[in-house]
Amino acid sequence: MLFIISGPSGCGKSTLAKRALAELEGLVFSVSHTTRPKRTGEVDGEDYYFLSRSSFEQLIADNKLVEWAEVHGHLYGTSIPELEKKGAGSDVLLDIDVQGAEQIRSKIKDIVSVFILPPEYPVLRERLISRGLNSTEDIERRLETARKEITAYTRFDSLIVNEDLEQAVRELKAVIIAARCRVRFREKDIMPILHSFLKEESK
Ligand code: 5GP
Repeated sequence: MLFIISGPSGCGKSTLAKRALAELEGLVFSVSHTTRPKRTGEVDGEDYYFLSRSSFEQLIADNKLVEWAEVHGHLYGTSIPELEKKGAGSDVLLDIDVQGAEQIRSKIKDIVSVFILPPEYPVLRERLISRGLNSTEDIERRLETARKEITAYTRFDSLIVNEDLEQAVRELKAVIIAARCRVRFREKDIMPILHSFLKEESK
């Protein structure tokens, strides 16, 4: 199953995703490709696959990306091989922007999408400034994008307001656990149970 987590930059998506990945079994992260420069501490192949614009454009030309978008002046995309590799035997979590979520939604039927919101605009601004990862110009661009993106929440299955981190983590995990319980995803669990009943009857 594919889980998509989206929301404005600085709303705490990555922290929430990391917590869910660490605390839930059978959930793996889809590492995106990006042309954005690597930040201090980021690891190529773990946080992102960092590549040049021309290499990214080659991936597009080769139809290797299931979705891609230009976000805050850089290209970001999810590759089909990455999804195939990570999705073999596990659920996959994608941290992508609203344009990417829209593209996945139009291509893949059974996805679960979660939108993360900050409790209010000044909190988002403060978080972007205090995490110290972005230049003033980049922060302004991210806030501008956020103002546009938040209206996209209506197209998501679930909404989490990240005011209290622990509560938001609980809610994200609850969404994932509940989705996994849907009858249509439980075929492989149901069959042995049904068979055990049939075996008993035929005795
Ligand atoms: P950042 O530069 O802060 O790591 O990410 C900026 C934005 O790009 C975030 O909203 C993040 O969700 C989005 N993003 C990351 N990977 C992808 C991707 O593969 N596809 C798309 N469409 N957006 C992505």
